[in-house]
Amino acid sequence: MSNKKTNPSYFWSILTMKCPRCRRGTMFNDANTFKTLKLSHIFNMPVTCKVCKQKFDLEDGFWFGTGYVSYALAVAVSVATFIAWIVLIGISTEDNRIFWWLGSNTVILIISQPWLMRMSRVLYIRFFVGYDKNYEKTKPVELN
Ligand SMILES: [Zn+2]
Repeated sequence: MSNKKTNPSYFWSILTMKCPRCRRGTMFNDANTFKTLKLSHIFNMPVTCKVCKQKFDLEDGFWFGTGYVSYALAVAVSVATFIAWIVLIGISTEDNRIFWWLGSNTVILIISQPWLMRMSRVLYIRFFVGYDKNYEKTKPVELN
């Protein structure tokens, strides 16, 4: 019956912020992070996945652990901009280009913060809820 359906890819489901269980339903009400100009709206999520009924907020304070994930993401972004800076602009002890990198990196981190915060939820819930290709027949994951 659903044998012909292709399995959505892991990385694509992360990039498009899809439900970890079915990889089809969206995790946020407004798919475009930067369209929601009000920061208080960036975490507007459906209570359960519209496709597979997976609950997203698995328990009280569930999203607390995302702090570690967003920290790791911020470090990853900084490493990436640092490498890009060395390749494109270069760094020397003779001038203050390193401080320009520091400033630029800070601006990039601030601008991408809403996206990083969402992404940390998308990644964090994947530690608890795995992909289930039979999501139509099985029950959503619950923490007890
Ligand atoms: Zn789902």
